[in-house]
Amino acid sequence: GNFVPPIRNNGGSACNMTSRVTGKNDDSMGDSTRKCLEMLCGPDGEFPEKLRNLEPRLIEHVSNEIMDKDPNVRWDDIAGLEHAKKCVTEMVIWPLLRPDIFRGCRSPGRGLLLFGPPGTGKTMIGKAIAGEANATFFYISASSLTSKWIGDGEKLVRALFGVACCRQPAVIFVDEIDSLLSQRKSDGEHESSRRLKTQFLIEMEGFDSGNDQILLIGATNRPQELDEAARRRLTKRLYIPLPSTEARAWIIRNLLEKDGLFKLSEEETNAICMLTEGYSGSDMKNLVKDASMGPLREALQQGVGITKLNKEDMRPVMLKDFETALQQVRPSVSSSELGIYEEWNRQFGSLS
Ligand code: ADP
Repeated sequence: GNFVPPIRNNGGSACNMTSRVTGKNDDSMGDSTRKCLEMLCGPDGEFPEKLRNLEPRLIEHVSNEIMDKDPNVRWDDIAGLEHAKKCVTEMVIWPLLRPDIFRGCRSPGRGLLLFGPPGTGKTMIGKAIAGEANATFFYISASSLTSKWIGDGEKLVRALFGVACCRQPAVIFVDEIDSLLSQRKSDGEHESSRRLKTQFLIEMEGFDSGNDQILLIGATNRPQELDEAARRRLTKRLYIPLPSTEARAWIIRNLLEKDGLFKLSEEETNAICMLTEGYSGSDMKNLVKDASMGPLREALQQGVGITKLNKEDMRPVMLKDFETALQQVRPSVSSSELGIYEEWNRQFGSLS
């Protein structure tokens, strides 16, 4: 008497939702999973074909943990990298906004590689692309696929591409893509990571040949570890270098201004920029954070307790705070590493 046939039901009862996804009449699906699956149903209330036979818990994980509905980064938040921004706009944002124009000869590549030292804004660019193109952003770190999701990685990749397909236009950002698509280690390679890599390449091939509006962005600090198959699929390869002097000045000003703490003169800002040659964007952020603690530490040293301290009584952040901070925050990228990126850019980069 309790049997509910697996047929369309716009009311979406627990039993029906489960059966529509798994083909079984089993009421064990939790409320949050059911809600999440219902959100993926089309306007007709049908559960998408692509997601059938995928494990509901993996679809839920992709929707709740990997999908970022509001990436909240715009081009104006990113210092420098003008050339990369211009190329990305033409190569990926316009095609996502106007797929009708970017067909045939103009059809865009679906794979973009951002490579360069850590902390230079690669993830920010990925988020800004999604923001500027009104696309759904999916972020996954490839190392979590190979470590945390051992055994389930392949299924999670299928769920990731499946959900992205239902949320077009979509940008899938794969951080540390080298750990997924590294050069085959012949004998040493684990069977499971080989399968994971194959699945990933199959999914990429699938959307590359179709009309789906999905862009895959891979980011890496170790481009030299990518194999030929990966390079071939990531048709555009952009070098994201360390920030220029102007970009470093912009980061300092922007971060301090946000908190109303920017009182440095142009000469002082320039002096800090001269001292921070070789610092990445993320090193600069750490430096500003450390320097902005200077006025607070000084006020506390004068005996005012933290609970009694009046914010307005603190002096502004000064050059000397940066000089102290420079002793704590060192650049995280060495010049020998930079040489490797430049060489790889000359050989395989799109803008060399
Ligand atoms: P990556 O992905 O290249 O390792 P991220 O994009 O995650 O680096 O950057 C880390 C942090 O460093 C950002 O959240 C931002 O605060 C800062 N940052 C790095 N590059 C830039 C940049 N070009 N402009 C502004 N901030 C930057």
